[in-house]
Amino acid sequence: MIAMPITPAVLILLGPPGAGKGTQARMLEETFGLVQLSTGDLLRSAVAAGTEAGNKAKSVMEAGGLVSDDIVLAILKDRMTDPDTKRGVILDGFPRTAGQAEALDGLLASTGQRVNSVISMKVEDASMVARVAGRYTCASCGEGYHDEFKQPASAGVCDKCGGAEFKRRADDNAETAGARLAAYHAQTAPLITYYKGRGVLEQVDAMADIASVAGAMSASVKRVVA
Ligand code: ADP
Ligand code: ADP
Ligand code: ZN
Repeated sequence: MIAMPITPAVLILLGPPGAGKGTQARMLEETFGLVQLSTGDLLRSAVAAGTEAGNKAKSVMEAGGLVSDDIVLAILKDRMTDPDTKRGVILDGFPRTAGQAEALDGLLASTGQRVNSVISMKVEDASMVARVAGRYTCASCGEGYHDEFKQPASAGVCDKCGGAEFKRRADDNAETAGARLAAYHAQTAPLITYYKGRGVLEQVDAMADIASVAGAMSASVKRVVA
């Protein structure tokens, strides 16, 4: 008997901190009815909840390093069992190491699936600190904003939900940003070659404005999701 597919479409957004993965994943969710799975968000929830995994991840995240593969994989697998992932998933911030990419292939292969598309979001290192240092999100709905590049239409009021409370991440500062970028180049950037070799890689210029990047991403996703 063939096992049921875990999820019909698996898309990966690959890019350094500040590339716009979260911003674009939320737009793709709305356009294509997919579900965004952000390992960063899942880890931050685990930290806030004070779970065993969260307690282990906390100091690593604060320092801008990568949380161990076993913790990240356990958290992701757990989330993948939720019924909403049956509509297809956009992985945002996962995989980030060769070990995670191989584990994902193994997980999908057990049900005859594979990664459908990997979109590599290219941004210049020099712009990354400004991107993360200006980032903030709505405390109610999670919509992302930027001090300079994406302000709410009405100052202090979330466009999506009308919320008036916003938050900033502790690791979005200039010092930690350097460590996060170094981790990206050392451990995550090699995945571009990994997925190119599998014939599923698409590249998008993520230096363009948010709407232009969204147009390029949608065109790319349309090719793999009906
Ligand atoms: P990531 O999830 O890749 O770390 P985000 O989507 O959170 O990145 O974007 C980082 C910050 O940059 C956010 O404040 C977001 O509003 C802003 N941003 C996203 N895409 C662009 C873009 N194309 N141009 C300018 N700013 C952007
Ligand atoms: P970014 O905006 O830098 O892409 P994320 O929210 O994706 O930020 O991740 C924040 C932090 O969470 C990372 O710096 C890292 O410590 C941890 N993290 C997130 N995803 C992973 C992963 N797949 N593997 C290891 N660590 C991760
Ligand atoms: Zn909101």
